[in-house]
Amino acid sequence: MSETLNPFEIVQKEIKSACEKLGLDNSVYEILKEPERVLTVSIPVKMDDGTTKTFIGFRSQHSTAIGPAKGGVRFHPNVSLDEVKALSTWMTFKCSVVGIPYGGGKGGVICNPKELSKGELERLSRGYFKAISPIIGPEKDIPAPDVYTNAQVMAWFMDEFSTLKGYNTPGVVTGKPIIIGGSLGRNEATARGATFTIREAAKNLGLDLTKATVAIQGYGNAGSIAARLLSELGCKIVAVNDSQGGAYNPEGLDPKAVLEFKEKNKTVKGFPGSKDISGEDLLELDVDILVPAALENVITSKNAANIKAKIVGECANGPTTPEADKVLYENGVLVIPDILCNAGGVTVSYFEWVQNLMNFYWTEEEVNTRLEHIMVKAFNEVYKMHKDYKVNMREAAYMVSIKRIADAMKVRGWI
Ligand code: GLU
Repeated sequence: MSETLNPFEIVQKEIKSACEKLGLDNSVYEILKEPERVLTVSIPVKMDDGTTKTFIGFRSQHSTAIGPAKGGVRFHPNVSLDEVKALSTWMTFKCSVVGIPYGGGKGGVICNPKELSKGELERLSRGYFKAISPIIGPEKDIPAPDVYTNAQVMAWFMDEFSTLKGYNTPGVVTGKPIIIGGSLGRNEATARGATFTIREAAKNLGLDLTKATVAIQGYGNAGSIAARLLSELGCKIVAVNDSQGGAYNPEGLDPKAVLEFKEKNKTVKGFPGSKDISGEDLLELDVDILVPAALENVITSKNAANIKAKIVGECANGPTTPEADKVLYENGVLVIPDILCNAGGVTVSYFEWVQNLMNFYWTEEEVNTRLEHIMVKAFNEVYKMHKDYKVNMREAAYMVSIKRIADAMKVRGWI
């Protein structure tokens, strides 16, 4: 049988296997295998040339057992309903693994933001948020940025919702610009959280980060900031890439200079002193740490056996297939699974929401200290489960989080 790359089927398998390993009642799986609610919307947008174009968008709310749904919105040409459902399911487990009081949600719009003018993007963003507004709100479901959405898009979302309500509602989205209620540290949070987990993993493996080499796939928000933070810990970043090409230099790359180059040239390819490298070759480089920070299904049964890194830190959601996971585990590669590794983003989103609800704002240092505390604790809980039950880190992360969700569902009388 060929390997499934459907992310929703993958996450269902992951849930089932964790439920079985924990010996949970089958009703836990029965409830968690499907999202509680999925909405499909059509969004007519007036284009700059005077024509109207209709875009399709989704919002999936996977679980509200522990709290309101929470999760980003993706603008990408390959968005599909199954992808959004899978991403919303991953959010449930991500929030639970770090112990924040949310369920999981996710949204997406099928579009290519690179082909839209700023005005078209604003009208699409407002149209999408208005269309999903009946099921959104600070107590119901709180969107945030994801692939190809950013603080500006969140500002339009928040403004649209506030206009509908007739008063300011900063708590309806996170990842906003600071001036309208965003949190200090939110922009860096995904990469910062990932860096804490990589640091903890390295400690457990006895890997000296000042001698470690790193390859990063994807140079967006998560990848570029992870490169900077890991190099601040002493790691040597030898390769990075994006959708246009790569930059490889065994002597090391300066992450800030690479980012400046990318901002000017729209790609890291051609960075002075580097050689181009394909996405496939980057993943198989002989490095200590590999950070997939782009999209799903990049480490599969086809290339898993060729991965040489000792640690894989999943900044992206769903980069490794279950078949590949098995191979990596057998080969002794420590995978820090997405729902743990990239949970720093939603953790600081939680801090942002709390600050919005309190109308009381924290310093960046307070945000980062609280983030570190949560990430280190979550890493250690998952690592302990991985050792105690002799399961891989992903299974361990699911086991830690499903146990909490099952407990919540039980006391609420759902099972
Ligand atoms: N999109 C991010 C994720 O996948 C952040 C979600 C959030 O902050 O709600 O974790």
